[in-house]
Amino acid sequence: MRRLYKILLFFIGLAVFFYSLSCTSLWKPYDLVIKNGFIIDGTGNPWFKSDIGIKKKKIVKIGFIDKNQAKKSIDAQNLIVCPGFIDIHTHCDRGIVKVPTVDNYIHQGVTTVIGGNCGGHPFPMKKLFEKIEDRGISVNFGCLVGHNIIRREVMGFKMSAPTEEEMEKMKSLIDEEMKAGALGFSTGLSYLPGIYSETEEIVQLVSVVARYGGIYATHLRDQGSHITEAIEEAIEIGEKNNIPVQISHIKLADDAVWHQLERITKPVEEARKRGVEVTLDQYPYTATSSGFTSSFPSWAFEGGKENFLERLKDKEAYEKIKSFIIKRRLTSTKGINKPETIYIARSEKFPGYEGKNLKEILLALDKKPTVDNAADLIIEIQKNGGASGVFFQMDKKDVEDLMRLRYNMHASDGGVRVLGKGVPHPRNYGTFPRVIARYVREKGILSLEEAVRKMTSLPAQTLRLKERGIIRVGLYADLTIFDRHTFEDKANFSNPHQYSQGLMHLIVNGELVVENGKYTGNLPGMIIYGYGKTSGAKK
Ligand SMILES: [Zn+2]
Repeated sequence: MRRLYKILLFFIGLAVFFYSLSCTSLWKPYDLVIKNGFIIDGTGNPWFKSDIGIKKKKIVKIGFIDKNQAKKSIDAQNLIVCPGFIDIHTHCDRGIVKVPTVDNYIHQGVTTVIGGNCGGHPFPMKKLFEKIEDRGISVNFGCLVGHNIIRREVMGFKMSAPTEEEMEKMKSLIDEEMKAGALGFSTGLSYLPGIYSETEEIVQLVSVVARYGGIYATHLRDQGSHITEAIEEAIEIGEKNNIPVQISHIKLADDAVWHQLERITKPVEEARKRGVEVTLDQYPYTATSSGFTSSFPSWAFEGGKENFLERLKDKEAYEKIKSFIIKRRLTSTKGINKPETIYIARSEKFPGYEGKNLKEILLALDKKPTVDNAADLIIEIQKNGGASGVFFQMDKKDVEDLMRLRYNMHASDGGVRVLGKGVPHPRNYGTFPRVIARYVREKGILSLEEAVRKMTSLPAQTLRLKERGIIRVGLYADLTIFDRHTFEDKANFSNPHQYSQGLMHLIVNGELVVENGKYTGNLPGMIIYGYGKTSGAKK
């Protein structure tokens, strides 16, 4: 009896201990709780009001939660709580090791960036991943294998189809990159040396990617008069390999094809009807940004830079190159003054040109702002190491009409930026808030829920990221919390280095990266590995 009494006493003591533990806040079931937010879950469904409970990296409860059950709680009264934005098209692979804080993206509400687009990635990918794992990053990062890098590695700047041996070598390098954890394969078919490849080459290379469940993302061969053929080529490559096709930074980039949306929608929708998974991404601006190489004929660079410089000395070749540039870059069917629409964003050799358009530069050089002089100037810049440019070549209405397409998602086509360096395209700082401020709030082109879907679950589905992009119990706690009335981009073309405003909090894998609009210094981002990774894949 005495013994039974003792046992009873022990259990009562235990119960009192645990009860007092929970009352004195020593034991809490949630690490972080978001209270009272308007939740937009990423599926496109209308908002609902609820709390979200987070434990470690994951969402563990959606529903009413007593604040006292959380180690930390955030009051999201009157704020939107949605999945962290996933940017499927970036070039962050270039700067992410040096700037692991990725500041220009976190202030946009982005929690995952995908690099390796337009045919370029740091080779070998394994090394990049190791460096990132070593240093940490603020956001999640995934990467594609770039065709141009693989082709250059094996074939240099050869303007011919690969030999059998070269093809096998390229395939084995792609295989290695997929095993390192790449999410897919990208081409940049208007860049070097991808421009020298034919469709059959890409069809064969993509067969390697298909084995690992990767996607095929492409910077099309042509985004102007021949855009339909370029899209058909991309579809053929995907269809023959039975893999998803992502058409990058979709646009009608030549005034000769403005307002002809069917040049894009017809081939894409016909393919989708046949069962080919084709999706698009787009940045919400009327200007593009890239280097000047795609303004040149591809043969000008055959064999590499030395040969290019040699060719320029030949008068006949020079004139041929010049007339190509005039036709490709400086001619308008609608009477637009092209030199006025092309800006220098960054140039090592001519920093004084940064932020100025070709007309302004020519006038400053005491030259007439003619198309002829503009072509000479482009050649001169390219001769001296090139520059990145900003080109106003799209129409506002086309940008809006493309944005309405259900299978088109928002993406920046930007990269990691250092505050104050160069005069980059404002998309690097403003893409996601700009969609919400301008196209949702001001113009009503999209509902907020639809815009969020195109920033979250649509890119997640396209990349097969099954644990992100939606607010759901069991998924990673990547969350963006903003004020729907004030969230907006501040960056513009003349003053691009401005963070966006109205983002209140950003949570990556359960940890606060932005709190009350300020970066916390945390680096909780993970690498998102593809299915090919042989060990330790986290996808
Ligand atoms: Zn591109």
